[in-house]
Amino acid sequence: MKKYLFTPGPAAVPPEVLLEMAQPIIHHRTPQFSAVLDQARERLKPLFGTRQEVILFAASGTGAMEAAVANLLSPGEHAIFVNGGKFGERWGKFLKAFGMVPHEIKVEWGRAVRPGEVEDALKANPETRAVFVQASETSTCTVHPVAEIGKITRTRDVLLVVDGITSVGVFEQKMDEWGVDALVTGSQKALMLPPGLGMIALSPRAWDAVKKSTTPRFYFDLGRELKAQREEHTTAFTPAVSLISGLNKSLEMLHAEGLEKVYARHTIMAEATRDAARALGLKLISPDSPAPGVTGIIAPEGIDTGKVVKYMRDTLGVSVQGGQDQMKGRLVRIGHMGNLSPFDMLVAVSALEIALRNQGMDVKMGAGVAAVQARLAKGA
Ligand SMILES: *Cc1c(COP(=O)(O)O)cnc(C)c1O
Repeated sequence: MKKYLFTPGPAAVPPEVLLEMAQPIIHHRTPQFSAVLDQARERLKPLFGTRQEVILFAASGTGAMEAAVANLLSPGEHAIFVNGGKFGERWGKFLKAFGMVPHEIKVEWGRAVRPGEVEDALKANPETRAVFVQASETSTCTVHPVAEIGKITRTRDVLLVVDGITSVGVFEQKMDEWGVDALVTGSQKALMLPPGLGMIALSPRAWDAVKKSTTPRFYFDLGRELKAQREEHTTAFTPAVSLISGLNKSLEMLHAEGLEKVYARHTIMAEATRDAARALGLKLISPDSPAPGVTGIIAPEGIDTGKVVKYMRDTLGVSVQGGQDQMKGRLVRIGHMGNLSPFDMLVAVSALEIALRNQGMDVKMGAGVAAVQARLAKGA
């Protein structure tokens, strides 16, 4: 039976990319590989909204997050992190692990941090060297106001480090224009690849910070990788050759579609999914600042979303994801990133209706599907 993948990572990989990755392996110290690496790194820049170098690691997205922390700060330095969900919390864990002094801005799940909260935290902790935030917090399906935060950090001697793992390739990122000093992403979300590549770009002032950082690091050494990837056109260690070939292909496809169209497609899928939830009388976890790559729908009282998700996956063949931590059993997260067409949302919402009814909710069957259809009919 055909299976459908609507998880907020990993996301579906197109056949063109799968075929590219099935090609015989090439050696990574060859002009052939260098050409692929150079092209892929160049093609990533518009997705990051930067003219700076994008560095690749064989690692999941978390590896690129680690690279940001370990290369930009030194032990004992102060940093502010926005904890509005699982991934924001992870910034705090890195800072602790590497001996920095973390200051947390705790944000209720589903709410975006207010720029004023960042400003207040900077006033309260004037020794702060960097602010860490998610552009899109996947666990709460919420977008944080990165451009606004950038206006605050860029005028100070404070770096802005952004986790763009469900943002790059989903909605427009203007790293240079917004004053973002480090932007991180991973392969398995919007970039239409299997897991295994972490990517990071740094601003000129972040590259200066790399030179000053005394944090111990070895594999995730950005200075060494910059030299290898920019000057020697290869990676310092054996790269994920097949994934990088696949990346080059997926980027070729995204640019052929046109990034504006790619972003508009994500907007339509997100709006259609939110419209469907409302039509079913269901609440969203993040009604005021919803993410374009993943929608979080709160189940009605008495319905365990763990069972809804399991029924959708095992009986209907449609994979979505539940909630984490305090939202475990209470949230259904539908990912709409990467290789999906807006019409695919008819499948996701239809399966959700069936599964909710199976779990005992009095569902008006077809109400969500009709809402998706109505949104699709409107077009871009
Ligand atoms: C998926 C995700 C991560 C973790 O990335 P891995 O590739 O699983 O290491 C971090 N941040 C956000 C926002 C994510 O969506």
